[in-house]
This record gives sequence, structure tokens and C-alpha cells, in this order.
Amino acid sequence: MLLHVDESLEGIYNDILRRNQGEPEFHQAVFEVLGSLGPVLVKHPELREHKAIERICEPERQIIFRVPWQDDRGIVHINRGFRVEFNSALGPYKGGLRFHPSVNLSVIKFLGFEQIFKNALTGMPIGGAKGGSDFNPKGRSDSEIMRFCQSFMTELYRHLGEYTDVPAGDIGVGMREIGYLFGQYKRITNKYESGVLTGKGLDWGGALVRREATGYGLVFFVQEMLKARGEGFDGKTCVVSGSGNVAIYTMEKIQSLGGTVVACSDSGGYIYDEDGLDLDRVKQIKEIERGRISEYVETHGRARYIPGGRIWDVPCQVALPCATQNELNGRDAQTLVRNGCIAVAEGANMPTTPEAIKVFHDGGVAFGPGKAANAGGVATSALEMQQNASRDAWTFEYTEQRLAEIMTGIHERCYETAKEFGTPGNYVNGANIAGFIKVARAMVALGLI
Ligand code: NAP
Repeated sequence: MLLHVDESLEGIYNDILRRNQGEPEFHQAVFEVLGSLGPVLVKHPELREHKAIERICEPERQIIFRVPWQDDRGIVHINRGFRVEFNSALGPYKGGLRFHPSVNLSVIKFLGFEQIFKNALTGMPIGGAKGGSDFNPKGRSDSEIMRFCQSFMTELYRHLGEYTDVPAGDIGVGMREIGYLFGQYKRITNKYESGVLTGKGLDWGGALVRREATGYGLVFFVQEMLKARGEGFDGKTCVVSGSGNVAIYTMEKIQSLGGTVVACSDSGGYIYDEDGLDLDRVKQIKEIERGRISEYVETHGRARYIPGGRIWDVPCQVALPCATQNELNGRDAQTLVRNGCIAVAEGANMPTTPEAIKVFHDGGVAFGPGKAANAGGVATSALEMQQNASRDAWTFEYTEQRLAEIMTGIHERCYETAKEFGTPGNYVNGANIAGFIKVARAMVALGLI
């Protein structure tokens, strides 16, 4: 890899490689954090004695389980379920569930690890976790999805609770799946424990703005990054990868701030319209018809569909990867810099490879890492938990205002911490260091557990 791990941390990193073999995504996520922590140990030598880094890299608990289910033709399928309860120093475990065939222990561990720092940055009392399954929901009927969710929860429920572990959605898990999971939890436990899952529907304990939160929050964060450079979204050309929950609400907020989104994608390819995309049509295809992004050009002849292409070839000033991990590599980054891109921020988790991050830093591009930039989703989940606990329901405007304040606060924390540790403008260092110090202090205060 091209980035550098401080010499004093090399031993820790090598030990992590040895003890977690065959987990490249987890290695990558740890590597990125350790790359920032050298100066922290110099300033806070007590954290070294307490083995805070070794401790934070070891999950508190890892649960792997069988998920048997039957499809509509009566054929039996066996999937694997995961929940990695990584760190609960700040509060109950909190983090989404991902249903995608690429899910394995490495992917869940990388996501759970990132979640610890992200949740700390929000300033809310939540620990870090992640879970999911290698189940592929694509092409499955509604009743197949329901049976899968019920089987998944029949094992997972014993590990959850509003004061223990509170999952939410992620790739392949939206409000429909959260509904089936919540229903099964309620049935097994005989409790209407609203605070056990977030991302619920508005009629049954959900919160306004949760659906929009990650995308809106990302745009609020980028707005602060641009502001720090004397810029704004107005008149900017933007590219957003993906067309799922995060991507759609990222595009919506950009448009409302005067930016133009010219391209978005799914795993098949990307669509491009230099005059700006019609977001209502994208929503219709993705949220209602659950179709492919290629269908967009059937009604919008001016737009082009590029199957299997690199969306980062499209010239833009702001690029927001919102699909999946490692979707933007060093070559893509060079193309973006060459085309005049000034800001990149991660709506997805770890979409940017270490090589690409280096290209952005060297090229003077403002780069917002996911653990800061996409924290609006989990922060609003915590607001949903607050509303559940107080049996209250806040207005859209009030909740969005809280979200905007939280994102501004995260930006400030990252910006100031990066400056304090001698790397002004480096949001990767700012996020890693600020998140780590907060969790490490709490771990030390709670004793050796
Ligand atoms: P989603 O609604 O399921 O959408 C995922 C999007 O990414 C879809 O357009 C999907 O295309 C595309 N995609 C998935 N895997 C891909 C792959 N291997 N190659 C290319 N495209 C792929 O999921 P989401 O909730 O928007 O999550 C997107 C990212 O944001 C993930 O990294 C997630 O961890 C992160 N995130 C989500 C939240 C949240 O609140 N939802 C919060 C923080 C971070 P297809 O439909 O073709 O698969």
C-alpha cells in the first residue's frame, strides 16, 4: 500500500494482519486509522500503556449464525448471518445490517470498525457494530424477503435490545426489511420495544428525516468543506455514484442548494445528462419499481447510459461516491483531479482506495472520509432512539435542523483536530484522531473490560 503506518504502530498492525488472516477489507480499514494515530500516542502516552489501539481493534463479540429459509417454490436455502459487536464504550452497539452476496466476516468487521469512530464523532452515546448476511435480495419476492428476515431475526433477537444492540439498515436493507425484522422481534419477545431497531416506518415508531439523513448529512458536510474554501454548491457540477438510499437523498439536497447532478449509477453502469438528471424519474425507477438505472434513458432520450463504465470519467467539481467499498481507485482519482474536481466526500463506507486518497491529498482536493461525511444516518438513528424513548415525534424541520447542526459539529471537530495535530485540512486525520481519543478515553475510564 502507498500510505504510511507510523513505525511505532507497525508491530500492532502486523499483529492484526496475523490474527485476522484473509480479511483484506478489515485490514484496509485498520490501516487507514493507524496511519493517523502515531502523533496521538506521542501526545497521550498513557493510551499506549492501556493498549487502547490493540483493544479498539479487537471486537468485543462476533456472532456468526445459520439462516435457513425456503423460497416460493419450497426450495431450501442456507445463508450465513453476522453481527460484530465491536465496541460499546460510548453506548449500546449501533450499526446497520447489510444483505448482499459479497458479505463476509471481513466486510462486516471493516464496517463495524469504521462505525466505532463514526458514532463517536456524532457526539451521541452510541457504540459501534455492524451485521448482515450473504443473502441476495435481488429478484426475490416480497414473501421470500419476509421469510428470510424472520429466520435471520429468530437467531439475532437474543443479542439485541434497546440498551444492548440496535441495528439499522444498510445495502439491501431498507424500511421494508426493517419492518419484517421488527415484526419478528416483537413476536418472539412479546414486547413493542421501538428502540431496538432504527429506520422504522413513520406509522410504527420511525422518525422523519431518517430516510433522507445520510444523503442530506453528506451534503451538509460537503457544504462546510466548501465553505472552508470560500465556495458553495450553487452552480457546481456534481457526480454521485449509486442510486440507492444514500445516493438519492444526496442528489435531492444538492439540487435544492443549486448544484447540478449530471451522473449516477447502479452496479450495471451509469447514466449521464450534462443538463442534470431528473431525480423524480430516478426515484420512480429505484424506490417504486425496484428497476435498473438503464431504464432511465427509455424516457429521457437526451441522457446516455454507459454500461459497466467508470462514472468518475465524467467531469465534475464535486464527486460523491455513494455505492460501495473500493469503487473509486487511484486512476479514477487522477482523472477527477485532471478534470478540475475540488471536493470528494464518501457517502458510502470506504469507497475510496488508499491510493486514491493519496492522489486527492497530493492534488489539493478537499477529501471527506465516510466516518465523518456519512455519519448523518446514524446520528439521525440516535435521534429516532431519543424520540422512541420519550414516546415523542418531532417535525421534519426540527429534525433536519438537528441533523444540520450535528454535521456542522462533526466538520468542526475534524477540521480543528487536523489542525491541532499538525495536518490542517486533512479530514482523514481529523476524523480518525478525534473519534479515537473519545472512545479510548471512555474505554480507559471503564476499566480493563
Ligand atoms: P442501497 O440503498 O442498497 O443502494 C446501494 C447502491 O449501490 C445501489 O445503487 C447499488 O446498485 C449500488 N451498489 C451496491 N453494491 C455495488 C457494487 N458492488 N458495485 C457497484 N454498485 C453497487 O444502499 P445504501 O443504504 O444507499 O448504502 C450505500 C453505501 O452507503 C454503503 O456503503 C453503505 O454502507 C453506506 N451507508 C449507508 C447508510 C444508510 O443510512 N443507508 C449510512 C452510512 C453509510 P445495485 O442496485 O445495482 O446493486
